Amino acid sequence: MAKVLDSKIPAGPVPEKWKEYKAHQRLVNPKNKLKLDVIVVGTGLAGASAAASLGEMGFNVINLCIQDSPRRAHSIAAQGGINAAKNYQNDGDSVYRLFYDTVKGGDYRAREANVYRLAEVSNNIIDQCVAQGVPFAREYGGMLANRSFGGAQVSRTFYAKGQTGQQLLLGAYSSLSAQVQAKKVKLYTRYEMEDVVIVDGRARGIIAKNLVTGQLERFSANAVVIATGGYGNTYFLSTNAMGCNCTAAVQCYRKGAYFANPSYVQIHPTCIPVHGDKQSKLTLMSESLRNDGRIWVPKKLEDAKALQAGTKQGWEIPEEDRDYYLERRYPAFGNLVPRDVASRAAKERCDKGFGVNNTGLAVFLDFSESINRLGLDVIMQRYGNLFEMYEEITDVFPGDVANEINGVKYYKPMMIYPAIHYTMGGIWVDYELQTTIPGLFAIGECNFSDHGANRLGASALMQGLADGYFVLPYTIQNYLADQAVWPKVPTDRPEFDEAEKGVAAEIDRLMNIKGKRSVDSIHKELGHIMWEYVGMGRTAEGLKTGLKKMHELEKEFDTNLFVPGTKEGLNVELDKAIHLRDFFTMGQLVAFDALSRNESCGGHFREEYQTEEGEAKRDDENYFYVGCWEYKGKGNEPELIKEPLEYEAIKVQTRNYKN
Ligand SMILES: Cc1cc2nc3c(=O)[nH]c(=O)nc-3n(C[C@H](O)[C@H](O)[C@H](O)COP(=O)(O)OP(=O)(O)OC[C@H]3O[C@@H](n4cnc5c(N)ncnc54)[C@H](O)[C@@H]3O)c2cc1C
Repeated sequence: MAKVLDSKIPAGPVPEKWKEYKAHQRLVNPKNKLKLDVIVVGTGLAGASAAASLGEMGFNVINLCIQDSPRRAHSIAAQGGINAAKNYQNDGDSVYRLFYDTVKGGDYRAREANVYRLAEVSNNIIDQCVAQGVPFAREYGGMLANRSFGGAQVSRTFYAKGQTGQQLLLGAYSSLSAQVQAKKVKLYTRYEMEDVVIVDGRARGIIAKNLVTGQLERFSANAVVIATGGYGNTYFLSTNAMGCNCTAAVQCYRKGAYFANPSYVQIHPTCIPVHGDKQSKLTLMSESLRNDGRIWVPKKLEDAKALQAGTKQGWEIPEEDRDYYLERRYPAFGNLVPRDVASRAAKERCDKGFGVNNTGLAVFLDFSESINRLGLDVIMQRYGNLFEMYEEITDVFPGDVANEINGVKYYKPMMIYPAIHYTMGGIWVDYELQTTIPGLFAIGECNFSDHGANRLGASALMQGLADGYFVLPYTIQNYLADQAVWPKVPTDRPEFDEAEKGVAAEIDRLMNIKGKRSVDSIHKELGHIMWEYVGMGRTAEGLKTGLKKMHELEKEFDTNLFVPGTKEGLNVELDKAIHLRDFFTMGQLVAFDALSRNESCGGHFREEYQTEEGEAKRDDENYFYVGCWEYKGKGNEPELIKEPLEYEAIKVQTRNYKN
């Protein structure tokens, strides 16, 4: 019999669902009388906000992260902003419109009810963060300022220069620290979760490695929440922080949590292009730059060839010879089309030979028009730190005037190209953010919810903080209400013994391979396979080849890996080896999912399924579902289980950003 997934969406028309749902809550006890323990793994925006909120509500929280401080979580990298439906610009925004834009942006592959709830709580997030002192940009008159991000025709993105993630994380960290001080949160830095412990079918604890001593430790609780971020680094080169990994999520998957929509991977259009074989990280240039920067390539192939050969520079090409291809193809949204659309359009131009750097794999992002219109001062106020970052990396300052043609000043354009950035797929969760393992919850980027097949810019921070501050602290109580009478499981139970033994055996296995290849050399090769066969343009044949190559490389990993040092004490190479083991599982999962989805939608583009104009061609008749995968053992194909999507409030249609 087919397995049925219960997404636990309360009945009723969408706008009423969340209100009704909130009325169900019963455990909130600000007087700190609860004796329930919750483990929160991760201190990014999702984890830190959840741990702080749960602590404030009276739960005893154990909060772990791999960095030396919660403030160094990957969330700190977020540059551009966070969305909310405040309608401060009076440009027609509303909760419904944010809901609609997000569902449409996700190419109609998100769970409708979750997205509505997200849009509804978006405004609370801004109030919460302002109360914490987050220094959002303000207008001259003191109102919070906004800018626009892709996939929206309103200005709803709140920002703190180009450091929004950092400022939001400092806000969440201050709340977290207050709870640490109040002894409601116990913080464990430089600890990595290696396994989830399941007792009688429920998540009751974790096994974590102290990254400094190398010791394995046991933690027991009434519920476990993972907030461990995305799996973008499976591709080796990505805009993610180097430490981002999917070990916790993959281990939960191995233990029975379903993994949903792994093939929905976001490729961001505005990253600094790859510039050599020795690179280990790619740099994002924030989408906010597309508010004022215009994307173009030359109209003439001979100009593109001259640019590639270095005999011509971008600023020597006059206006009439420039192809602002996004404005041409998508007049209604122009440079602010969603990321999947912009990335594919850049690839299409480069594939046709119009790329502008020495590899032919770049397009221009040009501020000449906006600097001429607004002045460099205004542009620097908006994007100063991003211009400086670009200059630091490329030695080109985009505010430098380089040429004058017919009285028009031309500034040095940035060069950009798409790169792996964000993962919409993740651990499957129901409406309460609970996984298929009772007592195990997943929040933030590590779950699959809300963004469908493509995330809109500035919506990840919104989702992470919605989950952490406003959703999980309520929904987890539905589970914990039944747990209040159960004592906490002691860590000397056989289930803990077995889980710890399993982790220790894996560490010994990796240490004892004693082959010849470094972790990075194998990871880089995996990244090449992923980008080549499971990247921006996928085909059935390519995906099969990719899977075969991944199997072969995994064998190489299992037999020829070399991890220096010992398992005792700090061993960064060992930690990377554990992550790489899990990137292999993840990479194959992405490929299986991509192979099973015979359609193109959002970030998943199967070249066989496109319109004559090269747009993604969805197949709602056969693929209008969340694809969930159940682990079936190493080397075996996982099993696909479907959660059918049901839309009540939004009419499912073909995405249109042209008019
Ligand atoms: C360059 C860049 C810019 C971005 N800009 C924006 C933006 O402007 N707006 C926007 O909305 N989104 C943006 N994003 C996306 C957004 O930053 C992320 O999606 C979001 O911050 C993820 O938050 P998180 O809390 O889910 O995970 P993370 O911030 O990745 O945090 C993960 C946490 O889990 C911990 N962890 C991981 N594994 C383990 C383990 N096994 N054991 C213990 N702890 C573990 C880590 O230590 C960390 O504390 C950007 C992303 C990038 C890469």
